[in-house]
Amino acid sequence: MSFEMLKMKVIDTGKCIGCGMCARGCKHITMQEPEEGKKFGIPKLTGKCILTRNGLDCGNCYDNCPIVRKAKKKGDSQFLNPREHVLNAVKSINDGITIPEISKITGFSTIKSRNEVLRLVELKKVRIEIPLNQQDPIFFEAQ
Ligand code: SF4
Ligand code: SF4
Repeated sequence: MSFEMLKMKVIDTGKCIGCGMCARGCKHITMQEPEEGKKFGIPKLTGKCILTRNGLDCGNCYDNCPIVRKAKKKGDSQFLNPREHVLNAVKSINDGITIPEISKITGFSTIKSRNEVLRLVELKKVRIEIPLNQQDPIFFEAQ
């Protein structure tokens, strides 16, 4: 999850209201001056989003955007971030799910699915079990 996602879902789709919430707390984002005839400027990545490479540990700009928050509250799954999609995949299967199965449900690569689900384990939202008779670890929603 990175600035790219905010750009794709909010800025490039014309939904940005120029509130600047995304730029607060991130030195890589700058609010631009409004273009002629516009009431507000839009955010721009002026530094390097430190998490573009693996997209795992930040996403604050995306999570803090009121447009994203409102859409998620309304249940618009298009605005869920990859980690939330993976968590939903885990929640959808009661008796445990493997990484290839997560990948199948979410459409993410196995590497991305693996990274996200392991991060969810670190965050204690998902529990991992490694069966003796099987190579693939199984993931469950943490209770
Ligand atoms: S994902 Fe994090 S580091 Fe990257 S632009 Fe957004 S807030 Fe900044
Ligand atoms: S937080 Fe969202 S609405 Fe506000 S400036 Fe950033 S992209 Fe635009």
